[in-house]
Amino acid sequence: MMTTPRHNFASNLVLAQTDADLQQQLTIHFGTSDLSAPNKSPLVTTTTDVMNWVVQKARSMYKAEPEKLVAAISSSATKNALAVWSGSGRDWIVFSEGLMELLRDRVDSVAERFEEAFPDLMNTTLMQRLLTRSPLPGGFTTSFSSFLYFAAVAFFTGHEAGHHLAGHKSQYPRQAHAENSESGAIDVDGAWLIGQALERDADLLGITLCRIAVSSLLGQLWEVDEAENLSADERKCFQRVLAALISTGALTAAVFIKPKSIDWTNQPNVLHPPAVARLLTLAASISLAIKKNFHDLDGFYRRWIRLMSLEVAVGATITPGTNADRIHQERIARGGELAAIRATGIRKALHDPMFRKYMAQLDATIKEIRPGLKPRM
Ligand SMILES: [Zn+2]
Repeated sequence: MMTTPRHNFASNLVLAQTDADLQQQLTIHFGTSDLSAPNKSPLVTTTTDVMNWVVQKARSMYKAEPEKLVAAISSSATKNALAVWSGSGRDWIVFSEGLMELLRDRVDSVAERFEEAFPDLMNTTLMQRLLTRSPLPGGFTTSFSSFLYFAAVAFFTGHEAGHHLAGHKSQYPRQAHAENSESGAIDVDGAWLIGQALERDADLLGITLCRIAVSSLLGQLWEVDEAENLSADERKCFQRVLAALISTGALTAAVFIKPKSIDWTNQPNVLHPPAVARLLTLAASISLAIKKNFHDLDGFYRRWIRLMSLEVAVGATITPGTNADRIHQERIARGGELAAIRATGIRKALHDPMFRKYMAQLDATIKEIRPGLKPRM
């Protein structure tokens, strides 16, 4: 059996600096083509370690030329992540330092909310053992917040790798897709549904890659292997912690999303979707992945994870002093559960019958365009 060639950030830096198409896309989306070496700072080093893990796994899924998949770090403070299809034949994944800092600064608040939302998980022996580990380097306050960061970066990297693996290249005529840019977006020409269907497609692969990375990390830290050496109770606990961590981490990665209320019926007519649509489809994709892979969790606990991880991730995005914050505080004062997702209109959208219809539309759209894609796997 052939082994997958190792991905190495330091040697790719030279490739990245001489890749004209990549340089051009960096300038468009970051305003600079400056790139960072993996040893630039503890935060960059930790992030490139996580990315390496995911890129290596994604490479192993390439049916040919896995070394085409490469990753780079933009030195920019702009918060963005890209998938770039270069004329050099390379499939680039780019993550900016600005995005790293944003995620790093957000995970402490997410970790605090997680502890409140999942007290049953915090008290387990496995979790207690996890909390005695030192945080990953990079300026994290607690070990748990650094693990949430790991999950968020693993999801983001997996999502970009997903665009490459699923062969979305032909759908992006400008040869690049940015998670947080207007330029290069395909939905400006009215192909809104296609754009969202591609995001969901990439999310599903992103979640798979994130799950594999986080489960290896936890297995190492706990010195356990999910498949072996665990009693039935321990296995259930492992799956609960893993599912909650992946779900919350991936939703935290969706930091650009500013929750607002939604009118599904107007969806096809707007140029850019209300961000809540993206958040909810992501939550639905996560639920699907958990259902498929965590057989020791019942439907009740899966729904609990879906709601609480949304509550935790959304709660951390509410800016003090805003209108959403005011409604949020009122909800909390009334002793209301799920105050954040209620205050932002997400709870209502979740129960909107149009949401199911919208998800079905996304599935039908990806089915329609699938024959025209050239997947790498
Ligand atoms: Zn994307």
